[in-house]
Amino acid sequence: MDCSLKKQCGSCQYIGMDYSKQLLIKKEKCQSLFPDHHIHEVHGMQYPYDYRNKVIVAFNQKYEYGLYEETSHRIVPMTKCLLHDQETHHVLSQIQKILKKYRVSIYDEKRNKGFLKHVLIRRAVTTNQTLVVLVGRENVMKGSKNFCQELVHACPSVKSVVLNINPRKTSVVLSKQEKVLYGKGFIVDQLCQLTFKISAQSFYQINHEQCTYMYHKILELLNPRKEDVILDAYCGIGTIGMFLSKSVDNVIGVELNHEAYKDAKNNAKMNHINNIQFYHDDASKFIQTLAAQNDHVDCVVMDPPRSGSTEVFVESIRVLKPRQVIYVSCNPVTLARDLHWFSNIGYDSQDIYPIDMFPHTEHIECITVLSQKK
Ligand code: SAH
Repeated sequence: MDCSLKKQCGSCQYIGMDYSKQLLIKKEKCQSLFPDHHIHEVHGMQYPYDYRNKVIVAFNQKYEYGLYEETSHRIVPMTKCLLHDQETHHVLSQIQKILKKYRVSIYDEKRNKGFLKHVLIRRAVTTNQTLVVLVGRENVMKGSKNFCQELVHACPSVKSVVLNINPRKTSVVLSKQEKVLYGKGFIVDQLCQLTFKISAQSFYQINHEQCTYMYHKILELLNPRKEDVILDAYCGIGTIGMFLSKSVDNVIGVELNHEAYKDAKNNAKMNHINNIQFYHDDASKFIQTLAAQNDHVDCVVMDPPRSGSTEVFVESIRVLKPRQVIYVSCNPVTLARDLHWFSNIGYDSQDIYPIDMFPHTEHIECITVLSQKK
């Protein structure tokens, strides 16, 4: 399949390359980073397109929208990106029409003037719901009522529109301040037979199909006992912990982002799950406290951001002595570093299970199981 952006946005390093070759390259990359491990076949997708449920675009003064060019802040107009579904494209084209009609002012980076900085679209693929986040420089958007009315009319999948207010000159897209312009400020998706509320700021895995596979793989590898206490560290909106909570007596989740933590608590309530507690904290600080209190944890599932975990976290594992640790990583480089820390405290892993969460890009998701050396 051909990419209309001709790779200029820089997001898809491997687009145009045979998919089976991409999987092979990713496996080789893992093999070079983990020479002592058994690298399993990369779990790829049957149809490796339209999978991304989130996109952030910017508009230029001609109301063209797209992604930034890899090396500059020039917008590469995006008519059809192969990674997003039909509905995402439809919603974006309607937003474009309405912005143009009402002459909504577009932010001009050089002069630091104008209103609209970015538009973020989030899709819940199982329920066909769409969340639209407009990132603006001020806390009032002129004509927002008309904008929302027309957008919802043209795109019934849009269930909520949020204004994120970001007046600062920064490359960070979202600020913490937001205002709901239409709907409830979140959308609802189904994942592994559970229902999740997803708000603008919360992390949610961007590839639904591969995420479903990954959560089942985690459960298979964990193979928990009913009486186990599981810690879901870096838990986001609570998805992994809630999925595992059906198989064990007790789950604890910890998450740093306040919105995600609030979503996690609401999600547990919504799914009538009573054996999971969420904490709003830094994962390393939290696990350090558990270790200091001599608390009991049988298994840890950890899924840190690209920067990986910390030595403090791993040191607390040494004290808590869980039977096993499942490490889920979106960055094999930091995973390799962290596995060294684990090895120093006597925890080893043998297998790497790569999952192609991000087809056509150079990224790869990996799972590994750590347990105490015999
Ligand atoms: N397990 C979840 C989320 C994984 S993404 C899922 O599968 O959806 C990583 C998560 O770690 C994000 O939600 C991010 O907000 C959170 N995070 C980042 N740094 C953290 C820290 N120091 N302590 C706890 N959580 C952190």
